Amino acid sequence: MLIDKKHNRFFRFTPISIMLVLLIFMLSFSLFGMLGINSMMKTALKKHEQSNIIHSQIYAGLINRYQSLFKLVNGNTSTTDTGKIQALINEIYQERKKLIKNQSLCIHNKNKPINPIFVKQAAMLSAYKKLEDQVIELVKQGENYKAFLLFSNELLKQKENTLKQILRGNKYIQTQSADEIQKINDQTIYSIAFYGFINMILIALGLYFSVHILRQYISKNKELTDSSRLDLLTNLSNRLHFLEEINRQILEKPNSSFAVAFIDIDYFKSINDIYGHTLADSLLVQFGKVLSSQLKGVNHCIARFGGDEFVLLIRDINRKKTDALMKKISTAVNTNYYSHGQKIGLTSSIGVAMYPDDATTTKMLLHKSDLAMYQAKKTGRACYRLFSNKLVNTVLVENEISQRLQTSLSNKKNIYLLYQPLLNTETYSVSDCEALLRWNDPKHGEVSPETFIQIAEKTNLIRSVNYFVIDEVCKQQRKWAKDGNYRIRVNINLAGNQQIFTASLKRLIEKIQKYDLSPFLFGIEITEGSLFEINDLTINQLRIANRMGIKISIDDFGTGYSSLLYLAKLPLTTLKIDKAFISNLCDREKDNTIVLSIIKLGQSLGLDIVAEGVETYNQCEYLKLHSCNIIQGYLFSKPISAEELEHLEIPDLKTKSQAQNYRIA
Ligand code: C2E
Ligand code: MG
Ligand code: MG
Repeated sequence: MLIDKKHNRFFRFTPISIMLVLLIFMLSFSLFGMLGINSMMKTALKKHEQSNIIHSQIYAGLINRYQSLFKLVNGNTSTTDTGKIQALINEIYQERKKLIKNQSLCIHNKNKPINPIFVKQAAMLSAYKKLEDQVIELVKQGENYKAFLLFSNELLKQKENTLKQILRGNKYIQTQSADEIQKINDQTIYSIAFYGFINMILIALGLYFSVHILRQYISKNKELTDSSRLDLLTNLSNRLHFLEEINRQILEKPNSSFAVAFIDIDYFKSINDIYGHTLADSLLVQFGKVLSSQLKGVNHCIARFGGDEFVLLIRDINRKKTDALMKKISTAVNTNYYSHGQKIGLTSSIGVAMYPDDATTTKMLLHKSDLAMYQAKKTGRACYRLFSNKLVNTVLVENEISQRLQTSLSNKKNIYLLYQPLLNTETYSVSDCEALLRWNDPKHGEVSPETFIQIAEKTNLIRSVNYFVIDEVCKQQRKWAKDGNYRIRVNINLAGNQQIFTASLKRLIEKIQKYDLSPFLFGIEITEGSLFEINDLTINQLRIANRMGIKISIDDFGTGYSSLLYLAKLPLTTLKIDKAFISNLCDREKDNTIVLSIIKLGQSLGLDIVAEGVETYNQCEYLKLHSCNIIQGYLFSKPISAEELEHLEIPDLKTKSQAQNYRIA
């Protein structure tokens, strides 16, 4: 029994319980119908039994009379007691008349015999009837003797058994009146028809409800399975369904060609942090819709793989068509989105792998499309990349580089720091420098930090890089502190995810405290791109560092995705304008405007402004004119060793610029 615990009821409306009730309902009605028919049949049979008794009695009487007649004839064939014979024949005639009248009606039942036994008996009795008819006809004409002879001859021929046989076989022949027989037959037929009809209705109803409930159950079930395969936010498929779809495609159409695309929205983490989850979610929904709209008429499956990652399965498509489709998709999705009164521009990086050319398993297809997506990210984002073996080589090279870098870091061989001084153009003094890592790999030669830092960032190797630089800078500061003749703040570039970043900052603070160094001799640079990876824990750690006196700069400002709100939230001291803007300064009006805006923004937030990548005197003058007095760049000094830094002499920038034949105004 089903017990609804919550409502303390004995019955719960579940599809199965409803079906059970219906089944019981149907069975009871069928039973009722069957019982009805059964009782009708019983009544009919009872009447048959009764009629059989009468029937037998009549026949018994008949046989007696036939036997008497027989005896009479056998006893005296010449004289014959015609009076007795006639009387017997008359009796027989009367009885047979009754019998034959009813029998013929019963047996033939409007010429429709209802039982094969009846048919057989009917044939025999009708043969007898013919004989009797002839006898009766002769008796009617007063030809009793002739009638007797005909009758006795026939009886002798047929033997007595025939009659008995007929009597025995007549069990079901009714000897009631024609009306009664008809009534019983009709009643039986009506009851069968009535209960049959009710049963049919019940069965039909039962079937209808069963099918209805079953359908509802199936559709509910489907809904449930669908929802387990649906991404509830975007209403697209989810990861599970997507994987099933690729598997199915491979299994069912192993010879077809299809594409798997991996799409990651650029800087979405930042958007989430800046604008909040509600808005970010609405952007994801819109993004999904734009994506779907580009796939009309294309045999596809689209899913949100998780977070800001979307995946596409494009069936029956070749590489060339995939390329064209991705171009179209990339252009469409990289657009402005509107939500909560905000206009937000989104871009995404797309990586594509082709089946069967690039991979033949779901896992590898996803892996390779993911690799291609990273390639797209690496090459400036907001674009798509199709997987190629060249890309594999890149990955292989990256793996190799990563391993070799690890070796260098642990052996502290072929890896070292250079320091690039920052010049205060107002005071013509150097109070800061930036520690920049150099790696001279025996196999690959001088590897650009941009390359190896990016590779290290993809793995947790960046933690070792951070620790190495922190340790080296602390070592250098200790050395300078010990010598006591040189003091300069060293800014350290820290990268990595929140966890690595926080751990690295913690390590720096611990080292400073351990070696009793002045925190004012240390600074950290965080790139604008990684700024938004920062969580509250990191912000706290930054506050501790800031309160101690460690300078905190935002590096490469203008290239990432910052908001004023976010900037105000962080305990910053400095903004470093990215060299990309400085290199075109004075040449491109647009860059001038950007630089001036950054300067104004920094000033309004009470921050120091540093311009990096200053190569010409004009750039320097322009910056100075607009109150950006700290410069870092080749104009003043390239990154140099600690010893060189100690002995650095500040050159006349104008002369140096002219001498180096840098861009002269
Ligand atoms: P960054 O932190 O923005 O460093 C400034 C980069 O600009 C340095 O490149 C520097 O040599 C270069 N630079 C300075 N002045 C000029 C100039 O006038 N013209 C030009 N064209 N370039 C100039 P570098 O040393 O190649 O480093 C590139 C990037 O690699 C750095 O950019 C930084 O993001 C990263 N990096 C370097 N060392 C480290 C490190 O120790 N740790 C981490 N996490 N990243 C590092
Ligand atoms: Mg830097
Ligand atoms: Mg920089």
